[in-house]
Parts: sequence; C-alpha cells; structure tokens
Amino acid sequence: MVVGAGVSGLLSARVLSESFDRVTLVERDALPEEAVARKGVPQARHLHSLAARGSEILEDLFPGFDAELAAAGCPLLDQASDAVTVLAAGRLPRFRSGITMRATSRALIERRIRARLEGDPRIDFLPGREVVGLMPGPMGVSGVRTRLRVDGSAEKLSADLVVDASGAGSRAPRWLEEIGHAAPGETVVDARLGYATRWYRMPEDFSGDWTGVAVLPGWPETTRGGTLRRVEGGLWTAVLIGTGGDYPPTDPEEFVAFAASLHGPAIHDAIKGAEPASPVYGYRRTANRLRHYEKTRLPGNFLVAGDAACVLNPSYGQGMTAAALSAMALRKCLEGDRNLSRRFQRRQRRAVAPCWTATTNSDAQWAAGGVGDLGSARRILYRISEEVMKLAVEREDVARTLLGVKNLIEPPTALLRPGILLPALARTLKRRPAKLRPLASPQQKTS
Ligand SMILES: Cc1cc2nc3c(=O)[nH]c(=O)nc-3n(C[C@H](O)[C@H](O)[C@H](O)COP(=O)(O)OP(=O)(O)OC[C@H]3O[C@@H](n4cnc5c(N)ncnc54)[C@H](O)[C@@H]3O)c2cc1C
Repeated sequence: MVVGAGVSGLLSARVLSESFDRVTLVERDALPEEAVARKGVPQARHLHSLAARGSEILEDLFPGFDAELAAAGCPLLDQASDAVTVLAAGRLPRFRSGITMRATSRALIERRIRARLEGDPRIDFLPGREVVGLMPGPMGVSGVRTRLRVDGSAEKLSADLVVDASGAGSRAPRWLEEIGHAAPGETVVDARLGYATRWYRMPEDFSGDWTGVAVLPGWPETTRGGTLRRVEGGLWTAVLIGTGGDYPPTDPEEFVAFAASLHGPAIHDAIKGAEPASPVYGYRRTANRLRHYEKTRLPGNFLVAGDAACVLNPSYGQGMTAAALSAMALRKCLEGDRNLSRRFQRRQRRAVAPCWTATTNSDAQWAAGGVGDLGSARRILYRISEEVMKLAVEREDVARTLLGVKNLIEPPTALLRPGILLPALARTLKRRPAKLRPLASPQQKTS
C-alpha cells in the first residue's frame, strides 16, 4: 500500500508492482482525468524542471515516456543552446551541450505517469481517502486507518507493506509515535526563499532564440532570480524567486516590477507585454528538511519515500529526480528479504545525498547571513566556488560540467577535477579578500 499518488507514490507503486501481486495507492484527492494541478499538490502550479537523470529514470520505468511528452507538445531544451542562464558572475556560454530537458508542466508529468499505472492490472487507486494513522501488527504494521473525504467515514485497510509517499506535509512522525515508535530527528536548512509564478500565453510573433531563461540568485548580494520557460500548450511559465527573506510579490504589477529588478532583462522583456493565463501564485515553504528515518527504528514493513523523507529547496529543480532516485533505491532493496525498512531508508539517504549536499551547502550561506558570518573553512570554499562560477561563464567545458552536476548526471566532485579546481584556486589566491559586506536586497545588474 502506498500513501499518496504524487510523483514519489506513483514511482514507488511502479517499482513495487515488480515484486507484489497487488499494489494499492491511497490518495486524499480526487484524481482528475485532465493534467491539472490538484489541491493536494499546490506546488504543481509552479514551474517544475525535470533534471536529465530524472528523465533517464522515467524512460527506464516507462519506455517511450519522452516521446509521449514530445507528442503532447513539450519542447526539448538543450540546457546550454536553447536556454539563457545568467549567474551572478555573468552569462553561461551558449553551445550545444547534449544535456537536455523536456520542458513540461508538473501536472502533465504526473498525469502521464498515472496513466501508465492505470493500465497495470496489479495497481489499484483509492482516491478521495485520507490516511490518518497506521495499524500496528506482528510484522510492524498491518495496514492504515483512513477517512473518506466525502462523508468522513472511517475505514481500515490491511497491507503487507506500507510506503508513506504523502509529501512534505507527511504525518508519519506522529503516526509512528501513536503506535509506540520514536519519531525521526530532523535537519532543516532554510534559505528563506519565496516563489511567485504566473503563466502567460506565448506571443505568436515571439522571435527570441531561447526556449528558457534562468536568472539565478548568487549569495550574498544577488537575492533575486527567476526562470521563464515554454511548456506544452503554447504557454510560458514564469517564476520569480527571492532569497534571504526578499520574497517576490503576488500583486500582478509588483510581479512585473520585481522581474525588472533582476540582473538580466530577458524575463521582464518577455512578460511585460504578454497575455497572462493565470493569477500570480505565491509559495514560501521552501526549506530543505531531512527526516532522519535512516537513523530511526521503524516497523520492518513501513517505509517513507520522496518528500515525506527529504524535502529539497525547490529552486534547484531536483525534487522529482530525488523521488525517482528513491524509487530506484526501493527497487534494489526489494531484491533482498531482510530488514527492508532499514535497508531502504539507508539506501534512499545515500541516493539523495548529492541533491541534499548541493542544496544545503548553498542554502547554509543564505541561512548564515553575510560572508563575515561564515567560518573560515566555509569562507574559503565560497571563494573557490565563486571562481568556479566565473570559469563556467568563460569556458564551455566548465559550463557543461556545472550543468551535468545540476542535472545529477555527474557527481558534485566533477567540479573538483584539476582542470577546474587548479585555475579556480590560483585565482582565489590572487584575489585580495573582498570587503565584508552585509546581506543586501537591492539588485545589481551584471549583464
Ligand atoms: C514550489 C515548488 C516548486 C518545485 N519545483 C520543482 C522542480 O522544478 N523540479 C523538481 O524536480 N521538483 C520540484 N519540486 C518538488 C516536487 O514537487 C516534489 O519533490 C516531487 O513531486 C516529489 O513529491 P512527492 O511525490 O514526495 O510529494 P507530493 O508531490 O507532495 O505528493 C504527495 C501526495 O500525497 C497525497 N497525500 C498527502 N497526505 C495524504 C494522506 N494523509 N492520505 C492520502 N494522500 C495524502 C497528496 O494529496 C499528494 O497527492 C517543487 C516543489 C515546490 C513546492
């Protein structure tokens, strides 16, 4: 039994169906026929990038998935030639990198995955039913307690194995305490980042040479950023972000003014005359949150997957890929027969470690304040990474490595290879230490 039919729940169910005769997905929402945002997944109204590693896994689990998205009108975007990426250090070079992304809405990805599972006779969906607790049993748990959304009536559902994939708001810590287990410890790293998203109709006469633009924040001074991308249906989705508490507004006029304040003009130039296709949606619960189930004694047949175990700052675009990596970890663990929950939680933790390390290393800086608030080791690392970013702006090979790491097809250590690290170190040593500056909100135009 899988709790939650979001991306993680669907991918977990797909993998479980290889080992179990019957898999049931219990979902609190009604599950619509169309690819639309649901109440239970408010994040679906915001831009969702699928990292290259995530799309490889989806193709592995659902052969032909990419072709299906292409047929639905989702453009293929080479992340260096079809995208303009502006870092605080400057603009990445435009060249054919071979690192591609299918630009799609989150609602469409989820709907297409669900459609594949609906055709599988081993998988059942129970929508409109909220899981409210676990039932204890001799194996650990014997199922879940549910409440029907339509009339509040209670029902118990038995299962041999329960996977919680109920997302960032998971109540599993409380469910565990209710049946006599300890709740997991948590690590939280909060960059105080906010989102504001608006959808637009792409003008028919648009003549820009890009499919997407990303203007990225850069600690400590460049608090603002944004992404604009063409997705299916001739739509643009424009998200503005502000870090360190510099939240973007949801008022339509202020939204456009915020876009004008970014350190690259392309997003503002595109949206200022475009026809909106939605209101401006805001979102602020973006802290990285790791629940340490890998260190917790769980019932042997109860697992916690996806955002329910590890929430990542969404602006790095890795959450769905982390959910896919966790499904692959589950597939591997199902090959063994002992201590499933312990083996899975540990393997999942290792699988998402590159995502967690990348997002939290960067966000720890925003959480700390200014350069002067960092310890000396972190300050040196920051200076070196600043130089790596400048190299990426100057050199195609470094830009390709940076994109490879961001897309989880290269390990973070790829940025430490001698051809990148040595020149970055040399430049760091040459530079005079910059004056310590406070965290500033006004934006500086760098290109
Ligand atoms: C603003 C924002 C932008 C994002 N952008 C990106 C991006 O660009 N790229 C990317 O890869 N990721 C992005 N993410 C992250 C991504 O949405 C998730 O990491 C990913 O979808 C995996 O989520 P999940 O399936 O674990 O949880 P969710 O997608 O939240 O799904 C949980 C499901 O469980 C159901 N549920 C909850 N409680 C219960 C219950 N008690 N009983 C039954 N059902 C229940 C919910 O209704 C929902 O369907 C973003 C997230 C946010 C917030």
